[in-house]
Amino acid sequence: MSATCSTVKMSDKNGNLDFIGQEATQWSDVPKEPIKYAPKKETIMLVGGLTILQDKLIETALESIGENFVALPNPDFASFQTGKAYGNRGQCNPTYFTVGNLVKYLQTLRDEKGLSAEEIVQKYVFVTAGGCGPCRFGMYITEYKKALRDAGFDGFRITSFEHDKGIFQKSDEESLLNLSPKFFITLIKAVLIGDVMNLLGYKMRPYELEVGATDKAMEECRLLVSAAFTNKKNLTKTLWNCRKILEKVELNRLQPKAKVLVMGEFWAAMTEGDGNYNLHRFLEAEGAECIPQPIMNRLMLSIWEAERKLHKKEELTVETDKKVDFSSVKSRLLIKLAKSAVKVHFSMYAKALGLHDYEIPNMEKLAALSEEYYTLDCEGGEGHLEVAHLIESVKDNLSHLTISVKPFGCMPSSAVSDGVQSLVTSRFPEANFLAIETSGEGAANFYSRVQMALFKAKQSAKEEFEMFDMPTNIPEKAHNYLYQPHNFQAGSAAKLLKSFSS
Ligand code: SF4
Repeated sequence: MSATCSTVKMSDKNGNLDFIGQEATQWSDVPKEPIKYAPKKETIMLVGGLTILQDKLIETALESIGENFVALPNPDFASFQTGKAYGNRGQCNPTYFTVGNLVKYLQTLRDEKGLSAEEIVQKYVFVTAGGCGPCRFGMYITEYKKALRDAGFDGFRITSFEHDKGIFQKSDEESLLNLSPKFFITLIKAVLIGDVMNLLGYKMRPYELEVGATDKAMEECRLLVSAAFTNKKNLTKTLWNCRKILEKVELNRLQPKAKVLVMGEFWAAMTEGDGNYNLHRFLEAEGAECIPQPIMNRLMLSIWEAERKLHKKEELTVETDKKVDFSSVKSRLLIKLAKSAVKVHFSMYAKALGLHDYEIPNMEKLAALSEEYYTLDCEGGEGHLEVAHLIESVKDNLSHLTISVKPFGCMPSSAVSDGVQSLVTSRFPEANFLAIETSGEGAANFYSRVQMALFKAKQSAKEEFEMFDMPTNIPEKAHNYLYQPHNFQAGSAAKLLKSFSS
């Protein structure tokens, strides 16, 4: 790193202004003192940052292939404060939440479990996705190192895999991470199963008759899936067996509830905690049903971006050049392989558990929808996807409200996508759209804006529901989660009534 940086904040307190007048110092990634790290077999890898269920599944899945992984707890408000105390100014809040969460966890190991800071630095490694930006994402690893050094963990190792290279990463002999195809395939299986379970949970929970029954059933399913990973049992069959557990959850699905598509910046839209003020649970408590963004959507975007880059590179080949570029052929093949692996595994797991009506995003369709509004070569954050999701939601009548969540100060999401969304909403005035920032503070303002947008969505859901007659004899399948009819109604209850009327 060549940027000038001073240790601007004291390591013990947030808000201490003693740094004023201090001389600026040169930042260096190298620890001040040489460190003798623990051998690989004694090293503990820390992971985290996806949904709670996925972090737990990943921990077990990677353990099952002999990797020593531990999932960090879900980031909370205290993580955010810790991140702010030790981080640089002007970061986006996923940085503060995730960096602070790691520092907080290490402090717990030191202050409550009795490990010394030296021991922690020697034995633990944090594994995260890396990338070159173009937004603050490219600075995450340095942010981690800076905060860890100021918190007393100088030399703590952060290792990463490139988020946009999928299973095609290089791993050398000395590398701490075993970036083999087996590692990535196991990781992706855990992520996709987590996606399917989460999506189903969000479909069922708003309609449960006994509060907490869906969460309880999902936890039972998670334990079964974890055991299947550990004992190398068939995952698809295990998910099929989970149907019996889920079918026991009693539902009343004939309630008109506003359907809310939650999208936006990847981390802010996906996290389930203080990082977005528990938005999904708040919406459910307010009587809505959420459509969350599965991690698979981000995987599909990364694959689509890699394919597009390759296509552009091939277009640059001089016409007279008759040589076959074998590296390009190989990359094309690997991209195709990755795409079909994600699709096949997701469909297989979804079918087994009984998620019938979730469509894997059609990346070409989404690109075509947004191309007129957002350049497809802009890769920061979710690129053109936020704009595409809103247009798709209106055209295909997917929801009564679309909420785009973005961290305060997020360049691609707040500064670019939201600018474009004003043109989209002027061309699609029927869109009920709310773009909302999460800063880690200001929950009351956040909730009040969500409630205002939700009011209109609830009215739409009720009107849509009342267009249909309630059948005299309600078919039994109406309340079985496995019955998921396809039609053009947005609300789940209206979809059911429409299916009975035709
Ligand atoms: S997309 Fe936004 S929130 Fe995410 S890393 Fe980039 S600037 Fe930060």
